[in-house]
Amino acid sequence: MKFAKRIQSIKPSPTLAITMKANALRAQGRDIIGFGAGEPDFDTPENIKAAAVRAIADGFTKYTPVGGIDELKDAIAAKMEGDHGLNYNRSQIVVSCGAKHSLYNLIQVLCEEGDEVIVPAPYWVSYVDIVVLAGATPVIVPTEEAAGFKLTPELLRGAVTDRTRVLILNSPANPTGAAYRREELAALAAVLASREITVISDDIYEKILYDGFEFFSIAAVSEEMKDRTVIVNGVSKAYAMTGWRIGYAAGPAPIVAAVTKLQSQNTSNPASIAQKAAVEALTGSQEAVRTMVEAFRERRDLIVSALNEIPGLACPSPQGAFYVFPNVAEFFGRSFQGKIIADSTSLAAYLLDEADVAVVPGADFGADKHLRLSYATSRELIETGVARIAAALGRLG
Ligand code: PMP
Ligand code: GLU
Repeated sequence: MKFAKRIQSIKPSPTLAITMKANALRAQGRDIIGFGAGEPDFDTPENIKAAAVRAIADGFTKYTPVGGIDELKDAIAAKMEGDHGLNYNRSQIVVSCGAKHSLYNLIQVLCEEGDEVIVPAPYWVSYVDIVVLAGATPVIVPTEEAAGFKLTPELLRGAVTDRTRVLILNSPANPTGAAYRREELAALAAVLASREITVISDDIYEKILYDGFEFFSIAAVSEEMKDRTVIVNGVSKAYAMTGWRIGYAAGPAPIVAAVTKLQSQNTSNPASIAQKAAVEALTGSQEAVRTMVEAFRERRDLIVSALNEIPGLACPSPQGAFYVFPNVAEFFGRSFQGKIIADSTSLAAYLLDEADVAVVPGADFGADKHLRLSYATSRELIETGVARIAAALGRLG
């Protein structure tokens, strides 16, 4: 069968593919420990589930406005005002079927052939394919491990051309956990001044920050920056609601109107029931978020110290999100039963085959010297999984 070029130009999401593969191996009876999925292992908090049950009981089960119900837009606006002092009205907010959907739609409405989108690397796996699907060109800008994997004004200046249409920023970042400080964002904003570049600020891990690190969004740098930034966020990570598929974008009204038009021709509204649940997530008690973030911090400390005990492996302690991104280049060139571990992809395959541990190769994030491990899993599985990794790496000759 003949398929369109557009679908042939992309690959399946590697993070989702690895999770599926781990599940399939478990179904065959293998005891796989999964560090693949970037998904909180906690259940959705009870008050949020109860709001969804109420929505069903009340018959709130019909189409809603395409861009989301006013109640949810108002909850998002209040959150933006309360958390960041940023003022958005209903026409500046669109609710989508997950943050990934918001990102996809934004790139679809902003970019086309000939446009460039700056993507600092390491990047979240889907940015590049989302840009390619729009026919635009991803301009990948590698950042330095020694500089905490952050985009600098110099790197940004070197990447901007007349064709640059969008810069994607993600803080705290998947996969590195790197988070930008206010001054760093102000310095990046200065490079963008007087250029017609829209910033897409992917703030999905905003609530998952450690050691008192204060979140700051580039949209809050100045009124001018707010006017050229679209914030993308959602409830998946902070509220353990990955399956509910609610994300949103907040930014200039014309961009939001274009995304809403696009949604009206593909998904229509996000699920009515999930929208009611998201209202409760944003307006109800935030206690569960604090509890989950504290658990993530303990697990971060556990996994970082366990990984750093492995000779040859170096793992910095991330500031946010729930991933570690250790450098494993030391193991490249070693072999097992005659097979050489050449790169992060073959190392991840080796760990799955020989240690029953699922991790994501750094190559999928544009940084081949690394592996990504999600520590959104229990302390027990972290301990056992890292012990398996240590033993398997020790077997390499
Ligand atoms: N952005 C980043 C950086 C992510 O890691 C994810 C993970 N799913 C998303 C966006 C999308 O989240 P969702 O579609 O579940 O809201
Ligand atoms: N964002 C998560 C991850 O990076 C979930 C999977 C996905 O949507 O890519 O693993």
